Amino acid sequence: MAARLDRIVVVDIEATCWEGEPPPGQVREIIEVGVCVLNVGTLERGERVSLLVRPTRSEVSPFCTTLTTLTADQVAAGRPFTETCAEIGKRFSARERCWASWGDFDRKVFAEQCDRESVPYPFGPTHLNVKTLHGLAHSLPHEIGMMAAIAQTSRKHDGTHHRGHDDAWNIAGLLAAILAAARGWPSDRGGI
Ligand code: AMP
Ligand code: MG
Repeated sequence: MAARLDRIVVVDIEATCWEGEPPPGQVREIIEVGVCVLNVGTLERGERVSLLVRPTRSEVSPFCTTLTTLTADQVAAGRPFTETCAEIGKRFSARERCWASWGDFDRKVFAEQCDRESVPYPFGPTHLNVKTLHGLAHSLPHEIGMMAAIAQTSRKHDGTHHRGHDDAWNIAGLLAAILAAARGWPSDRGGI
């Protein structure tokens, strides 16, 4: 079925991480799913949602806490991955809609973890890579990181970098700006 284009479900995950490879016996797991829903008609962003996920096959390293600010105690109070996926599918109608993230990392990690844990994938097939779209829309020679994109467009970064809900909010803002420009809207219109 064709994806509904009334809203775009913008997603940014945080995952357990280390300075290099995972220690023996551990695997990378999602510890936060940040969501910000973009209203396609008005280009206004909805609330920033942070869904904390309890890891079961890895630990939050000091390196990971330094990067994300998320602590082992915080994510231990999160919900199981399977419940989080069920909530995403239901609360955001994510299987029927287009969803978006910066790059392909989030899509790949979600697919891997759903596969590994036999959890139903919460999204539909229509994924929008905002990193690629941003590069194309701004005639860049190659893709750039989210923080560089914010700086390049003279936007204000908002919130804590490497927290899912704040990253999703900022990505949704970059996407809104691309869509506004494509429509010939002034950049100060609405929630852009
Ligand atoms: P981000 O959306 O940029 O906050 O990154 C998502 C996830 O990618 C983080 O939660 C980490 O698991 C991983 N990651 C991002 N940057 C780094 C880094 N410099 N070193 C190791 N892992 C990273
Ligand atoms: Mg992030």
